[in-house]
Amino acid sequence: MASLKLSHIYKVYDNGHKAVNDFSIDIKDKEFIVFVGPSGCGKSTTLRMIAGLEEITTGDLFIGDTLVNDVEPKDRDIAMVFQNYALYPHMTVYENMAFGLRNRKVPENVIREKVMEAARILDIEDYLERKPKAMSGGQRQRVALGRAIVRDPKVFLLDEPLSNLDAKLRATMRTEITKLHKKLGTTFIYVTHDQVEAMTMGTRIVVMKLGYVQQIDTPMNLYNKPGNKFVAGFIGTPQMNFFDVTLDRRGDDVNVKFAMPNDEQIAFDLPYVSLSKAHDRYLHDAKVCFGIRPEHISIVEHETGIKARVNVVERLGNESIAYCELGEVEKEYVVGSKTQIVVKTNTDLTFASGDLVNLEINPSKVHFFDLETELSIISDIPEYATFDASIDAKGQLNFLANKVALAPEIAKAIGNNQKLSIEVPPSAIVSGSDYSLDVSKVEKFDDQYLATLAVGDRFVFALVDETVTEGSKYSFNVLNDKIRVLVNGESVLAPIAECESLKGMFTKEENRKAREINFFYEIGGHKIPAPQDNGHKIFTVEGNSCYKTEYKYEVNRKKIQAVEDGGVACPVKDVLNYLNAHYARVDYLGQDLLIEVAEDFAAASVNIEIDGNDVAVYNVEIDMRLC
Ligand code: ADP
Repeated sequence: MASLKLSHIYKVYDNGHKAVNDFSIDIKDKEFIVFVGPSGCGKSTTLRMIAGLEEITTGDLFIGDTLVNDVEPKDRDIAMVFQNYALYPHMTVYENMAFGLRNRKVPENVIREKVMEAARILDIEDYLERKPKAMSGGQRQRVALGRAIVRDPKVFLLDEPLSNLDAKLRATMRTEITKLHKKLGTTFIYVTHDQVEAMTMGTRIVVMKLGYVQQIDTPMNLYNKPGNKFVAGFIGTPQMNFFDVTLDRRGDDVNVKFAMPNDEQIAFDLPYVSLSKAHDRYLHDAKVCFGIRPEHISIVEHETGIKARVNVVERLGNESIAYCELGEVEKEYVVGSKTQIVVKTNTDLTFASGDLVNLEINPSKVHFFDLETELSIISDIPEYATFDASIDAKGQLNFLANKVALAPEIAKAIGNNQKLSIEVPPSAIVSGSDYSLDVSKVEKFDDQYLATLAVGDRFVFALVDETVTEGSKYSFNVLNDKIRVLVNGESVLAPIAECESLKGMFTKEENRKAREINFFYEIGGHKIPAPQDNGHKIFTVEGNSCYKTEYKYEVNRKKIQAVEDGGVACPVKDVLNYLNAHYARVDYLGQDLLIEVAEDFAAASVNIEIDGNDVAVYNVEIDMRLC
């Protein structure tokens, strides 16, 4: 039994192919994690790195609390089950299962006990004397599982174990493996390209594409709240329908208009509340991608629905799948056309190819994606709430019927009489007494509570504790250093980022006497000692080119210290006043750095010390976090 932690794991093969990028996950003890994605997305590579069969290029892998990057596969206390069973053909089932234990010199009576127990669990007690070739695919896979079970591993790794089986047997074995997981109470990591296997077996699923993790979530969350268009399309059969549409808010409704190849007007309205978490820029004559699953569209009798013409109907008995074309105008049937709409229905209404039908979209099951990034425009915790704002004569920013003092230079830079808006992230709203708004909704997501606060015809979102209730008032302050001010849609005042990035080189010094090599992050000629482990890591991954590459050094702003003595003397360029936060912009050896300072700060220079232990190192050119 064990937990696992993968932290910023990358795999670059010798030929330069980057198969896995920045893979991070905390796997709890006893979880059943499934890696799923199309062929070549990096699932097996990741699994093999966990097994120790493939070297980790960078990143840390922990099994339990132990860093195992350099631990031999046989010492990792894991067992792996492969697609091709990997059984020894000349050995009996019993011998196949006993083999690993015999190699470890386990006493024969213990081996016998373990093999018999595994055989009982897997229901193969009657086949122990058979050779693999006299067994079916399903039975062989059970033997392979048995061989893993007898080792009592902390973690089971399974690489497409059911791919060689026929559909019916696969379905049976799926249930068997799920039962086995429950019975053994061990952590399972399972690789498959089959989304049905993933959805039915995983407690959590990692969806991957082209070496990148797309989403890590429970099966139901992947289905109900896909984070991007790829995940939305990958999970569910038939696939989610996607359409280019224009969204336009009209009071309490948002109009969704389909892009049609002719002049046909096909549109429907959604209540604004179902899109209230979307950024305002998506709600005013904005083009987005609309997604709706076939099972969330119904064929209705009334005439008010969306008109569509049926092309093909597949009747499956309990339900029918209708392939339709949006609009009344008859169109030629083209596979994958942009106006095709697939409907999964169990209605009693009779309809046939060529019929005109009325479709109704379930308003609580809609999905919308950004056309460029393909990310969902609605997330559980919205990134921002957006408000109109203005600057008054006193240089105060007016929003939410409140006034916020801005630094005079910022107010001046923004000017007045302009179309201003501000973006307020939930993290900018903290309990306090400055403002008070009605709580219209409280939702729980993981261990966070999101309160929706009503203000005029808009909403603002706050992360609150569980004592905040719907219908009550919530009193809060706004952290002004976290808001963004936009003039005509262009950002003029950006929130202060949590981390600061500095460019620099990587150097070493050899101390021949002490027979050691010391590594440094060198920024503007100043050497910050790098932790020895990180120095070796960078050298191992990058080779000698590490001394010629410019790296990005990232430090959490809270870790950047102003010190009395030592450090780097940095002239102060200016001080930014964000009302309840103050920052000094200093010149750190030619690069700007913002540090938080006290309200009465007035020094012309500060000494800044950066601790090499707090620095994350990135190779920007190949987009890789090295440590
Ligand atoms: P999956 O298991 O998702 O099908 P893999 O992890 O096997 O994908 O492979 C991920 C990518 O890495 C693929 O593009 C594959 O071609 C490549 N790859 C796998 N093994 C090697 C290797 N030994 N050398 C170079 N590239 C490899």
